[in-house]
Amino acid sequence: MMLDCTRRLRATVAGCLMASLAGLASAQAWPARAVTLVVPFAAGGPTDVVARTLAGPIGKALGQPVAVENKVGLGGTLGAGHVMRAVPDGYTFLLHHSGMATAPALYRRLPYNPLTDFEPVSQVVDVPMTLIARKDVPAGSMAELQAHMKAKGDKVFIAHAGVGAASHLCSMVFQQAVGMDLTTMPYQGTAPAMSALLTGQVDLLCDQTTNTTPHLRTGLVRMIGVTTAQRVKTLPDSPTLAEQGLAGIDLVVWHGVYAPKGTPREAIDKFGAALRTALKDPAVLQRLAELGATPAADAKLSPEGLRSWLKQETDRWAPVIKAAGAYAD
Ligand code: ASP
Repeated sequence: MMLDCTRRLRATVAGCLMASLAGLASAQAWPARAVTLVVPFAAGGPTDVVARTLAGPIGKALGQPVAVENKVGLGGTLGAGHVMRAVPDGYTFLLHHSGMATAPALYRRLPYNPLTDFEPVSQVVDVPMTLIARKDVPAGSMAELQAHMKAKGDKVFIAHAGVGAASHLCSMVFQQAVGMDLTTMPYQGTAPAMSALLTGQVDLLCDQTTNTTPHLRTGLVRMIGVTTAQRVKTLPDSPTLAEQGLAGIDLVVWHGVYAPKGTPREAIDKFGAALRTALKDPAVLQRLAELGATPAADAKLSPEGLRSWLKQETDRWAPVIKAAGAYAD
């Protein structure tokens, strides 16, 4: 940052000049050290997988390592709050998902405004979700699951990653669509939620394909349906929930990178450019494709693209969440 020498009357000309040059040098040197990318969910889960797939290639493009740090809790709001309060020096970024758009309607006292308290950097990837069941739940389709849920009532447990998580949104939309109340179990991410499903502590989980695909391939969990309007390319035999009668369910989890408000423009632009480079890396593209994730459209890979999408999604979900009567403190 340049000092305003004309207003610094007591500063010597030499001192002022040196400070100005130092400020200029540090700005030009960004990034002069490792950059932290905060993930607001547990390690090993879908958001973390996206972050760790991209961190190496982004770091390579920046010439400095990108360290992924998991700040977990409260459906992603704890990590987002941590980044909102971080020093805006260009060394802290947040990778979050659609939860940035749903949290304002879900939380009565959200300590930040996603639209005004952050610098949007870029969208990242889009990932469909899957509703899956514990292997021994006697249901391989929506119709069988509904019969099972009718028989069991609120003894059916659905896991999610906390109020504000994508899995929470999906569980909410799903319960609304079937007109039943299940017992919800919050975890600090869907990696631990998946462990709970695999060990029989819960019956259902709706989560991104980045987490569920490997378990579906090995047959450790049962597929009920995908949450998108069209079938997912990597899971062509899995029907959508909509084609099984749950009309209107169309959920794709989108991801975005944000910086604390006041972060220098240079850091935002350079991080965004490095992210775009990473999203063209053939190894990254292959890894993402295997897990059903698609890079966001080019127009969305920019601060403006993310800003307007976040606003659009915030407006989309507020009335849905209000109608569901879901909120948290
Ligand atoms: N998939 C999680 C969610 O439901 C978050 C995570 O663990 O990455 O939002």
